[in-house]
Amino acid sequence: MKPVVIVIGGTDSSGGAGLSRDIATLTELGCEARPLVTAVTAQTDLAVHAVAAISPDHVAQQLSSALATGPVSAIKTGMLHSRETVLAVAEVLADFATIPLVIDPVLASSSGTPLLDLDGIAAIKTHLLPLCTLVTPNLPEARMLTGNEHPELQAKALLKLGAAAVLVKGGHGDGEMSIDRLFQSDLPAAEFAAPRLNTSLRGTGCMLASAIAANLGLGKSRHEACSLAKEFVSHKLRQAAI
Ligand code: PLP
Repeated sequence: MKPVVIVIGGTDSSGGAGLSRDIATLTELGCEARPLVTAVTAQTDLAVHAVAAISPDHVAQQLSSALATGPVSAIKTGMLHSRETVLAVAEVLADFATIPLVIDPVLASSSGTPLLDLDGIAAIKTHLLPLCTLVTPNLPEARMLTGNEHPELQAKALLKLGAAAVLVKGGHGDGEMSIDRLFQSDLPAAEFAAPRLNTSLRGTGCMLASAIAANLGLGKSRHEACSLAKEFVSHKLRQAAI
């Protein structure tokens, strides 16, 4: 049987990011997706024009129903939109602590529109991070979540908040290589590097977190899941660059 992965996030009418990326990634990696919608966005590659939120109660009902449908191998969160939705998701997930949880802390679109309010960021820190197997911030997200500039200190702060592991992604950095750094409290830090490519592929954050969740669902370790996911996204970036 294919591992089932629940993905919780927003839809993107441009098809570039969000749930459609998650589902495509999971399907390609041999998993079955159970998608839950937190918000419906009207956006192009250049701008977010409108966001319609699904009520937090309804998100909680989607999540309870998805969990009741049958065994779940991993869960991934993306755009959560508001503090109330973060709290609703965290409340349900608190009873399912054994299922690997990957948090992609989506704070804004590439075009600069916030996709989570400030109270939502605080709620992720207090309510969701303590439940997660891994959180995958890019550098701006890690800065917003911790107020720190340095990946190691950012990771330390997120581990202190209760995350079991932190992958600080290097895609927004500079240098010839894009280096993602994995920090786990009881293990040495690990690095996953790939040549930096000049492409404008959207949704790579969604893709990476979904690929990690898929690999955790397939029984891989955190380290292996991050390594395989980095290679998966790098391959997609190379294809997009051709
Ligand atoms: N829209 C939705 C619904 C998303 O989930 C995300 C990212 O996860 C984005 C937009 C942002 O994607 P991008 O950084 O490619 O703009």
